[in-house]
Amino acid sequence: MSTFRAIRIDKLDKGTAAAFVDFDESEFMEGDVTVRVTHSTLNYKDGLAITGKSPVVRRFPMIPGIDFSGVVEASASPAFKRGDAVVLTGFGVGEQHLGGFAQKARVKSEWLVPLPAGLSAAQAMAIGTAGFTAQLCVLALEKHGAKPADGPVLVTGAAGGVGSIAVALLKKAGWHVIASTGRPEEADYLKRIGADEIIARRELSEPARPLGKERWAAAVDSVGSHTLANVLAQTKYRGAVAACGLAQGMDLPATVAPFILRGVSLLGVDSVQCPKDERLVAWQRLARDLDKKLLETMTTHVPFARTMDVAQEIVAGKVRGRIVIDME
Ligand code: NDP
Repeated sequence: MSTFRAIRIDKLDKGTAAAFVDFDESEFMEGDVTVRVTHSTLNYKDGLAITGKSPVVRRFPMIPGIDFSGVVEASASPAFKRGDAVVLTGFGVGEQHLGGFAQKARVKSEWLVPLPAGLSAAQAMAIGTAGFTAQLCVLALEKHGAKPADGPVLVTGAAGGVGSIAVALLKKAGWHVIASTGRPEEADYLKRIGADEIIARRELSEPARPLGKERWAAAVDSVGSHTLANVLAQTKYRGAVAACGLAQGMDLPATVAPFILRGVSLLGVDSVQCPKDERLVAWQRLARDLDKKLLETMTTHVPFARTMDVAQEIVAGKVRGRIVIDME
């Protein structure tokens, strides 16, 4: 039986431990497609899994890595054949099914998306779950009917992965983009990728009043907690907020005032179980709308061997934009 390099997380008496190992193919979980992984990426959730800071892993041993791209090596599914380029995000991969921080992965064919035309495998991972989620937020705002003529759009956690790609996509769609960041040193970066205005994270991170001055017509929030409460309280009449993250916290210490007095809509966004039809639309839109040069300026390329170090950095809030992990 052959082996391949992987990061493996094991459960200990107290906590978990992650290490590079030679993983045996006989330990693969159920799946009808085997993929040679060429690229992966590091999302915030992967940082939590590797550092053990939060219990995101629900099966041991686990190979972390919620996203990967690569080439089909073997397939028992009519949907894919050997040599096809594929992308995977979500579906509990890297949490309850062996994930992408490995040279090989075996997964269910229904979880895979063909690599969209116009994107390389590395670009697909520069996008990854974070960029895919940013696109879902933009689609949710569009579906609500939000448009640039309504006023500015706010992006919180703007220098992070979801935030950076949301800034670029919204700017491309014609919005006046306000970027909220806790890192003033990233102001030039944020302007380069599409921010028109920068506001300080602390303006939004303290306990919120029920309503504030109406400042934005729409928002993409990857932060949650007091920040989301403030975002809602300062959203214009009939505006909408797409909420996808919890970088500040899982709580939502808000009142119903923005909903019942201003008709504000809170749109929940989940990327993990996103249905296939919407998944394909989102990837097509990313391939069409996301400027590849801007994507490259948001991206840091890291060899597989450095994954553990970068996991520490993302959990400490020190990573800017997106990380691509080169597996080969
Ligand atoms: P990153 O770590 O890349 O970005 C998060 C950003 O949030 C940071 O860069 C920082 O931005 C800001 N931030 C960090 N800590 C705080 C804090 N205490 N208070 C306020 N802002 C803070 O992570 P991702 O972009 O990959 O993910 C962002 C969030 O979205 C995470 O909570 C993640 O779990 C969630 N997520 C949800 C998905 C879904 O399907 N719903 C999918 C993907 C991600 P800055 O420095 O600019 O202030």
